[in-house]
Amino acid sequence: MSIIKVGPVEIIMGENDSRAPFSTCMVIKGKDNSALIECGAGMEALLSIRKQHNIKRIYLSHHHFDHTWGVSLFPDAEKFINPLDLNKALNTEELVKAQGFPAVLEEAELKSLLDEQHHFSPPGSDRVFERNLDIRDSYAYDQEFEVSGTSVMMIHSPGHTEGYCCPYLPEHGILYVGDFDLTSFGPFYCDADGNIDLFIRSAQKTLEIDAEYIVTAHQKGVMRKAEYKRKLIDYLAIIEKREQVIKRFIKNGRPPQELTKQSIFYYEEQTKRNPFYLKSEKLGIVKHLQRLIHQGEPFDEFYQEFLLVQNIKEKYTTYQSGLGKVNNQ
Ligand SMILES: [Zn+2]
Repeated sequence: MSIIKVGPVEIIMGENDSRAPFSTCMVIKGKDNSALIECGAGMEALLSIRKQHNIKRIYLSHHHFDHTWGVSLFPDAEKFINPLDLNKALNTEELVKAQGFPAVLEEAELKSLLDEQHHFSPPGSDRVFERNLDIRDSYAYDQEFEVSGTSVMMIHSPGHTEGYCCPYLPEHGILYVGDFDLTSFGPFYCDADGNIDLFIRSAQKTLEIDAEYIVTAHQKGVMRKAEYKRKLIDYLAIIEKREQVIKRFIKNGRPPQELTKQSIFYYEEQTKRNPFYLKSEKLGIVKHLQRLIHQGEPFDEFYQEFLLVQNIKEKYTTYQSGLGKVNNQ
């Protein structure tokens, strides 16, 4: 288990280099008790954290499984998530909607997905947990508050998901950018509550924050800000590359049923194997098409045909939790 210490903060890499469904987490050590930020590092790592620290509170950046699945291992800790994701964390049906499954699944398929999703076994374990998370409340965005003696601010950074936030520890210059993860996969905004333009805007906003240590949720881990700034440019350029593939595809007159087989996000064997990947491939493409049309590209007809042949219900391709005011700040 790799641990990096900065002041009272321990940054703990997850299993398998924090590749999903694992993620890097942080322990804030206090005098009497400690807090955990993110909860998907891996069975061994989380059990070791539980043993070594008196974890009283857990803070989650957003609703994704790879950041949240371990909370049941800490039954006595109070858990908090961002205000836009609270309802999703408490209600699996809402979660599945935010992920965009109703856009691509028929009613019977959706029902069986929901039945499956109500319970899960964490990676590397046979134990069965409830998918609905036992969350006590939401925290406020963009306001400093104290966690085990350390000042924390949850910076609202929508785009990856609508409620996504970056935990920031100003006294120690630590910014957990999380899923601005700089991986070669590139940016993920393929849930119904994801948004490409907001993703880019929020990523740029992370550079304005006064932090020296940048922590990503997957693979890369901890780096200095200058390195993050450099790598973020290539990472965001992947969005443009995806868009170029789509544009070329349409301009070459290729059929819309073939567009999900161009590995814009996932390889074809992944989308065949896993309904989450197929859903995300389709929704990711939809979001790019919507964005291109919004930018003035003449792709309306292609877009309508794409929805039709892929059997995508457009109204479920975007999701807002109903707390729109918070989201539009
Ligand atoms: Zn995520």
